[in-house]
Amino acid sequence: MARPCPGRRAYKMDTKLHEESLKATGQWTPKTKLGKMVKEGKIRTVRDAIESGLPIREHQLTDLLMPEMYNVPVDVRMVQRMTDSGRRVKFAVTTIIGNRNGVIGVGRAANREIRPAIEKSVNDAKLNIFEIPRGCGSWECGCGRPHTVPFTVTGKSGSVEVTIKPAPRGVGLACSDVVKQVLILAGISDAWVMSKGATKTDINAAMGALNALAKAATVKVTPEQKQKLKIVSGEVARQAPVAAPAPIAAEKKE
Ligand SMILES: [Zn+2]
Repeated sequence: MARPCPGRRAYKMDTKLHEESLKATGQWTPKTKLGKMVKEGKIRTVRDAIESGLPIREHQLTDLLMPEMYNVPVDVRMVQRMTDSGRRVKFAVTTIIGNRNGVIGVGRAANREIRPAIEKSVNDAKLNIFEIPRGCGSWECGCGRPHTVPFTVTGKSGSVEVTIKPAPRGVGLACSDVVKQVLILAGISDAWVMSKGATKTDINAAMGALNALAKAATVKVTPEQKQKLKIVSGEVARQAPVAAPAPIAAEKKE
């Protein structure tokens, strides 16, 4: 038996959780090869960690690689189980994390109390991060910045189907609260979103959106498309717009 937890509409980006675990990385002694490389500073970015091909088994390394991180518990439900000794109640939490800059992850955990369940799900999400492609995506826009999905993608979860289409800058995110949160975590600020099915189910709407983004990450793009649609994968430097106009050669002073 499961029922939605009251108060689940109060989506909050919890950065405090992350700050706490970032502090804890000081005392962290890595056990895995990738963990050691990150702690020693040999690997400094999410991209390099993914490209190393080594599995992420320690959430602390993700803390170090993603100093800016936000999380949204997209589903908190109470799970009751009958055992010989009586009724056991646990909270099962699904959390999506992201750096609002092309990296996103999802995790799940259960605990008898909500707070540790959320913490555990966040740590689980840190082991399941991936880079998403973004682009300007639309000839209508042409701004050249990675603010939307590079092409139309559809993701499913349960009965829900979420379709995300590229939109020009300024359109914003017209979609349900939970889908909006997922897109913000991923670093997408403009998109047309269409959903089918029982979209009131937050978890399916969120996972539908996440699956759409995950699918986008697997689409092969040619270098020409990449150039044309200004597609970037994962993190980009925030200060530098991807397609800065070519500098006009300064006139030589005589
Ligand atoms: Zn644009």
